[in-house]
Amino acid sequence: MRDLTTDLEEESPYECFECGNITVAEEHPGSCPDCGGAMRNRRTPLE
Ligand SMILES: [Zn+2]
Repeated sequence: MRDLTTDLEEESPYECFECGNITVAEEHPGSCPDCGGAMRNRRTPLE
């Protein structure tokens, strides 16, 4: 049985600046798996 609503795993969507690719990960992926561009956490507003 899978718990799809768990809050324990802090997965967040990261969006690529370059191509707009969105990757969901628990940790910052660092760079886009598609184009190698910079990723940002979509839950964190840019300053
Ligand atoms: Zn990209």
